[in-house]
Amino acid sequence: MRDTSSAVLPVDIAGRPSWDAYFMAIVRAVATRATCSRRAIGAALVKNKLILATGYNGAPAGLRHCDHADGGDLLNGHCARSTHAEQNAIVQAARHGISIEGATLYCSNNPCLTCAKLLINAGVKRIVYEDSYPDEMAFGMLREAGVLTERLQSAP
Ligand SMILES: [Zn+2]
Ligand SMILES: [Zn+2]
Repeated sequence: MRDTSSAVLPVDIAGRPSWDAYFMAIVRAVATRATCSRRAIGAALVKNKLILATGYNGAPAGLRHCDHADGGDLLNGHCARSTHAEQNAIVQAARHGISIEGATLYCSNNPCLTCAKLLINAGVKRIVYEDSYPDEMAFGMLREAGVLTERLQSAP
C-alpha cells in the first residue's frame, strides 16, 4: 500500500500546498458528499483564508436523491433535481447570515450561467476552478462584472 501519510502530515514545511491548492483539496472532499449520480461537484466560499461556507450538488435537503438510471429527473439533458454546489454554498452562507461579499469561490468546475449571475450579485470577486467546460456566456458575464477567473490544474 502506498504511504500517503506525508500528504496528511507534511514533514517538510516547504512542501506545504499553496492556499489555492489547499482550498481545492477541501473542495474535492466536499464533492464526495454530492448526491447526483451524474456529477459530483464541490464548492467553498473563502475570504481572508477562512472558509465561510461550502456546498455540493444534490436534490434539496430532505428530498429524495436524483435518479437518472432510466433517464429520469432530466430537463433538456441536464439534471433537473439538483441544486448546484455554488448555489448551495451561497444558500449555506445565507442561512448563517454570513456576508460573502469580496469572497473567492473554489469549485470543481467553472460556474454555469445561473451560478455566475448569482455569484456576481453575491459580490464574489474571484473564482478558482479545476475542471473546465465551455460556457462563453457565463465567462463573458463574469468578465463584464470584473470577477477574476482562474483555472487551477488538477494535481497529478
Ligand atoms: Zn442529478
Ligand atoms: Zn451552476
